[in-house]
Amino acid sequence: MEYLGKLIEVGQWISNCCSLNKKMHKLKRKLEDLNGREVDIVQELEYAESLSLKKRKKEVDNWLASVARKKDEVRVIEKAVEQDRLLFTRVQLVKCVEDLTGEVTELLERGKFSEGLSLDTLEMREDALLTTKLVGQTFHENMDKIRKWLMKDEFLTIGIFGMGGVGKTTLVMHIHNQLLKESSTFGNVYWVTVSKDFSIHKLQSDIAKMVCLDLSNEDDEKKRAAKLAQALMRRKKYVLILDDVWNHFLWDKVGIPFRATGCKLILTTRSLDVCRRLGCEVNMKLEPLSEEEAWRLFKETLGHSITLPCEVEYVARSIAKECAGLPLGIITMAGSMKGVDDICEWRNALERLKQSKSGQNDMESDVYQVLQVSYRNLNDSNVQQCFLYCALYPEDYKIEREELIERFIDEGLIERMNDRQTEFDRGQTILNKLENACLLEGVMNNFPHDNKCVKMHDLVRDMALQIANSNSRFMVRAGVGLKGLPDEEKWTPNLEKVSLMCNKISEIPPSASPNCPRLSTLMFQYNGLKRIPDCFFVHMRELKVLELSYTGIEKLPNSISNLENLSALLLRECSMLQYVPSLTKLTALRRLDLRNSGIKEVPQGMEMLVNLRYLDLRVPTLNMLPVGVLPKLSNLQYLIIYGLSKTLKVKGDEVASLTKLETFSGQFYDIYNFNTYVKSLEEGGPSKYLLQVGLDNPYFSPVESGSFDKSVILKSCSISKSNEGEECLVLPTDVQYLYIQECHDFRSLCDISSGKAATDLKTLVINNCEGMHSVLSSSSSCCIPLQCLRSLRLAFLQNLHVLIARGLAESPPVQPDTFSRLKEFRIYNCPNIKTLFFPQLLKHFRNLEELHIEDCGQMVEIIAAPSDEDEEDIYREIENGVIMNCLPRLRVLQLWNLSELRSICTNGVIVCDSLRDLAVRYCSKLKRIPLLDRQPSPPPSLQIIKAFPKEWWDSLEWEHPNAKNVLQPFCQFSRYLNFLSELVAKIIDIISTLIARYSKYDKKTEENMKILKGILGELNNRKEEIDQKIYAEHLSGTQEKEEVRNWLNNVQSINSDIRSIEEELGRKKYLSCEAVGKLVDEKIIQAQELLEKGSSHTRIFDKKHFKYVILGGGVAAGYAAREFNRQGLLPGELAIISKEAVAPYERPALSKAYLFPNEPARLPGFHVCVGSGGERLLPEWYKEKGIELILGTEIVKADLASKTLTSASGKIYTYQFLIIATGSTAVKLTDFGVQGADAKNIFYLREISDADKLVETIKTKQKGKAVVIGGGYIGLEVGAAMRINEFDVSMVYPEPWCMARLFTPAIASFYEGYYANKGVKIIKGTVAVGFEADSNGQVKTVKLKNGEVLQADIVVVGVGGSPVTALFKGQVEEEKGGIKTDGFFRTSVQEVYAVGDVATFPMKLYSDMRRVEHVDHARKSAQQAVKAIKASEGGKSIQEYDYLPFFYSRFFDLSWVFYGDNVGEPVLFQDIQDNSTTRPSSTKPKFGTYWIHNGKVVGAFLEGGTAEENKGIAKIARLQPEAKKDQLEKIGMLIAGLYGSDRPLSCSII
Ligand SMILES: Cc1cc2nc3c(=O)[nH]c(=O)nc-3n(C[C@H](O)[C@H](O)[C@H](O)COP(=O)(O)OP(=O)(O)OC[C@H]3O[C@@H](n4cnc5c(N)ncnc54)[C@H](O)[C@@H]3O)c2cc1C
Repeated sequence: MEYLGKLIEVGQWISNCCSLNKKMHKLKRKLEDLNGREVDIVQELEYAESLSLKKRKKEVDNWLASVARKKDEVRVIEKAVEQDRLLFTRVQLVKCVEDLTGEVTELLERGKFSEGLSLDTLEMREDALLTTKLVGQTFHENMDKIRKWLMKDEFLTIGIFGMGGVGKTTLVMHIHNQLLKESSTFGNVYWVTVSKDFSIHKLQSDIAKMVCLDLSNEDDEKKRAAKLAQALMRRKKYVLILDDVWNHFLWDKVGIPFRATGCKLILTTRSLDVCRRLGCEVNMKLEPLSEEEAWRLFKETLGHSITLPCEVEYVARSIAKECAGLPLGIITMAGSMKGVDDICEWRNALERLKQSKSGQNDMESDVYQVLQVSYRNLNDSNVQQCFLYCALYPEDYKIEREELIERFIDEGLIERMNDRQTEFDRGQTILNKLENACLLEGVMNNFPHDNKCVKMHDLVRDMALQIANSNSRFMVRAGVGLKGLPDEEKWTPNLEKVSLMCNKISEIPPSASPNCPRLSTLMFQYNGLKRIPDCFFVHMRELKVLELSYTGIEKLPNSISNLENLSALLLRECSMLQYVPSLTKLTALRRLDLRNSGIKEVPQGMEMLVNLRYLDLRVPTLNMLPVGVLPKLSNLQYLIIYGLSKTLKVKGDEVASLTKLETFSGQFYDIYNFNTYVKSLEEGGPSKYLLQVGLDNPYFSPVESGSFDKSVILKSCSISKSNEGEECLVLPTDVQYLYIQECHDFRSLCDISSGKAATDLKTLVINNCEGMHSVLSSSSSCCIPLQCLRSLRLAFLQNLHVLIARGLAESPPVQPDTFSRLKEFRIYNCPNIKTLFFPQLLKHFRNLEELHIEDCGQMVEIIAAPSDEDEEDIYREIENGVIMNCLPRLRVLQLWNLSELRSICTNGVIVCDSLRDLAVRYCSKLKRIPLLDRQPSPPPSLQIIKAFPKEWWDSLEWEHPNAKNVLQPFCQFSRYLNFLSELVAKIIDIISTLIARYSKYDKKTEENMKILKGILGELNNRKEEIDQKIYAEHLSGTQEKEEVRNWLNNVQSINSDIRSIEEELGRKKYLSCEAVGKLVDEKIIQAQELLEKGSSHTRIFDKKHFKYVILGGGVAAGYAAREFNRQGLLPGELAIISKEAVAPYERPALSKAYLFPNEPARLPGFHVCVGSGGERLLPEWYKEKGIELILGTEIVKADLASKTLTSASGKIYTYQFLIIATGSTAVKLTDFGVQGADAKNIFYLREISDADKLVETIKTKQKGKAVVIGGGYIGLEVGAAMRINEFDVSMVYPEPWCMARLFTPAIASFYEGYYANKGVKIIKGTVAVGFEADSNGQVKTVKLKNGEVLQADIVVVGVGGSPVTALFKGQVEEEKGGIKTDGFFRTSVQEVYAVGDVATFPMKLYSDMRRVEHVDHARKSAQQAVKAIKASEGGKSIQEYDYLPFFYSRFFDLSWVFYGDNVGEPVLFQDIQDNSTTRPSSTKPKFGTYWIHNGKVVGAFLEGGTAEENKGIAKIARLQPEAKKDQLEKIGMLIAGLYGSDRPLSCSII
């Protein structure tokens, strides 16, 4: 029997081992998912914030903070599992891991943020740093220059060099921010600060962190480089910025793919030599500011609104001048003079500056002197000391403000005050003052938490150290890669502060005993230090602050016991620490931080620390706190005490005796002690608390400490009133978060009568309380008021039957505001509740946003039918006799595993107009979805419906016949769940094999290997499926989500792991059989989990839906947007997607005033609709109207059947209506294989970016030679513009005359003559057949077919355009090269319209189909299409499009218009009074042409006409009067005027 008992024990142990490892793996996998989600979210946030002035939601911040905390907790438990400390039983560990897995899963779930991550904000995102402000024309020019270099393929590495303080970092910070906004062009942007303490290893780690690559387990530099290079190469496009590079290194050694396509590198350095040696293709030197710019910056830093009296301004200007044009000096100096108005002070500052600089003549030391003067200007020695203290941190270190203030307090730099809050306020004031004086920069540490930090510019830090070292007071060797202590002679007797933090010091020589009797601060944190010899502290009797956090220290030397002046002993995260000597004599100690250290018992003599203010005993390994210690520590203001041990508890009266507590967190012995403490709070208590009772592992508390300041967690205790009516639980009146678990005696909240006063409760979680029958009872008046409740979670409540138990008929209803602020309601695993809401109750949930109901096996209905008495209820709405149940704010509804659910709303309808996300799985008896099936269109905010199984969805009944169709595009059916269930049997099989096998590692390995390969096969099938999908999408450029990418990488790495295991098995060499067996088992679990995870990747790509999408952001798009707005548009309904980076503008300007040398047209001057005399639509206009401008986004795939557009960066857009407005593209000479046509400086003109490039080159090739190829309107306009720019211009075209498609020879001869007079050489009847380039690849000559060779600095090609329709080929009917439409611009595909250049439409006037590439048509067709769409929605009709062709052009001083059709016989006419106006030499050219076809005037052209005459010829072309040639020749001009004058015409004229 005994033997059997042992066997069972062993079996139990093995099963625990097995279960623990498995669970741990599961936890890690979940954590990986969470990491992936976190990365996605952080990236999305950064993009959203940089792009559109959005700020993240608090909720998202909290989530990120919770993720960080959870990761810490997992790390601790991981360590506990690895080290197998057996501090607590395996069963406890298993429980811990399970709990954590649940919490990580919940975080993952919460991380979906279906409502988006960010909120709109009108506030500008302010630059956090004054120093980030760009001042000076040169800076702006430099920005432009760098941006342009980045656009070019040939410049992959850009070096920016210049002296310290000249503004290199500021410049690249701006570039960085700018690039973030243009991520579709440049891809990801990564910023890494390199600094002096450079090492390949550090640089690798820093870059890896940016690209979310974990290199922590890889030490080999080469392997690290390979991994990093791979990770970078996976990103197709990115810009990597390396700031402050001091040394040359080999890119390959780091793992940065050098000169790889798509990868751009920018580096800043003080030395040109570094740029050269790093192979930069272009280098830019940053020069100091000019005197005037320096003055402007000085004034801006002082404050814009400040006007200085004349005499002060004079001195101030001199001060600015003394700063030698270095922005850092100027800003710091001006910062220190802010608010000074006394002329004497100004003069004094100038004098000091001059004196301090006398004898110095290099600029860098100039700036030092300037900085020193600013330091002196602080005029407060305390503030100055605080400033110097910051120099103890490494260069470029972001110091958290809170931490720094703690240090100031430790150091006594902040005078002692009554409470910590006041001390903190003082600390914040000091830091603000230093920031204001520009001696510190405010920065954010965004990841993982948003933490406010400060940083010192390296020159400022050098200056601070220079001051501090002047009497050898400081020794700072922080973050410089030290491996051992500085030499003995460096430890001089007058040292006061020593910082050796962030090094690699692992040992201190046994005899080291520095003689530093005045040393007050020793900073050793972040070193691998394990031991300190006893003699080390012997000569440091004055030591006040000893910082050893984040070290590997195992045992503190006994000499610490004698440091009687010590006021702060900091040992945070010293997880190896086992021994702390007696603290009996350390009565001066005010702060003791042992958080996450490895001690098991509190240090001896703790009770003597009567001055202790701050005690952090968040120690996982600590067993207990002896009774009687706490009351001795009567000055405590901050106390946190809990660990993994159940026995680490506190007594209520002991904590109550600590009357100065401001922050407290700990676990009480029992509910009695808890009550005792809570009762003491009546006299006031901490402003932050977390009070716990009954938790097995208080270390893993479920509370979200970031969000709640006042939390209570109760587990496994009796909280109901006793039989004698005695109060069992006393709740704090100000509690905000209440978590109740396994308190089985309690039936409803009404059992907690003391809760009546808890009016501020925001979150309530009730978990596994068997006695719980209802949450509230309407018959009781003594319940916790739930008016402020935001979140309610009910889980595993076996006996919960109703939310609110109804009392007797006469009992009062629940208080009116109960649940009125509830936003989130989750109910899981409550198997006995049948109905969730009674109609009468629903009105209380008017603010509910999320409802999750899962695994409630008996749930039959969500909202019950009203009973007779309910009919009286005044709160329900009745519309046309139908009862309307409203949840007006509900966004997310999730119904899972509700096998008995028959109806969502048993009577009437349910209205949820805000619904975005609906998920229904395994609710097979549900036949209708009443919240979706009444309307012909989906709820306005609906984004996604997740339904499973699909057959269930197909079997649903719909009230409106069209409802299902309109909802279909929102649906996702997770078919892999099916696939998974098929696998369940197999997995169970595997698990049982696993359990059996754990006891026999050595025997079954090969069998297991087979199993593993079986699972791997499944896994690879799934991978292949996803790969194929991705591959197909990649062809069109779509990018998968980060999460999916991680998954694919994991599958790849498990494959390679398994290959290695196989090899090991083959060799049976290095690893023991047992080890291999163990590995195989681990891999099986990993593979299963990956499989499970892979099945949930149903959304591989990102999507966004709009009701209307305009594809193309040119002329037509702008006019269409205006028309939509006129017709009525809801915010968020319309999006314009454009390849160009700017809002729609009037394209014709590009070949005209845009190219002029003087007063050129520039945006925002010519945004649509100024061209037709309308309102100018600036980007703000679109924003105001809720129209989303998706700029810089090229659509690379259009699937009209699924109404899906895919962008080059992989974003997917869906729509209901699509307007295609993609315009035309310029025909390229390279398309015809013209030799050398890809040389530099050959331009085309279609988009603003083309025009920008041309303008830039015109500037660099002043008065050079230009060849214009093409004699159409673009050729003529550009030819004129180049001439105006004083270029020597030749125009080449094959036709016998220019604009041959429209002009007659007579018209053309006028213009050709005119051009010749202007000095333009015209070469007709020939074409360019080749180009030659110089050694820089720039065009040099143009070879013509007639043998002529033209010299050229610039070539502009205007040989026509072709409509951009390739995306739609085969999906839509085409005609005459364009997309065929009807007179309403409807294409052959329903709800798809085409306008502008791409449309071939019925030209009513001439009864044929035409495509027109004129701006006037682009505007009008767009308006017509929008009117047609809107009319179709309202069931109305509009008139068919009846267009009169109109075209115009302007060059030099000329301007012509044309209307109608140029067919038939042309008739030239001129001004009757002046027949010289047809001559090219005329000073006022004026003439025209009519075209007579079948006896009627069908077209008219006029040069130099008045507005009236132009109007007249338009009218003539439209009315097509009959006319005779000779008549028109004589009085053509007169007729034009008469028609245009609106006076009645006598028919006899023509
Ligand atoms: C230099 C120049 C001068 C002109 N001068 C005159 C003139 O004097 N008189 C006159 O009547 N007409 C003139 N025109 C013609 C007139 O500008 C066009 O007819 C008009 O712009 C057509 O408007 P649209 O909206 O159809 O196309 P566009 O204005 O060309 O707009 C098309 C837009 O679609 C975008 N786009 C294309 N493909 C994609 C994609 N896959 N994804 C995202 N976005 C895409 C483009 O980037 C562009 O922003 C001129 C044209 C040019 C180029």
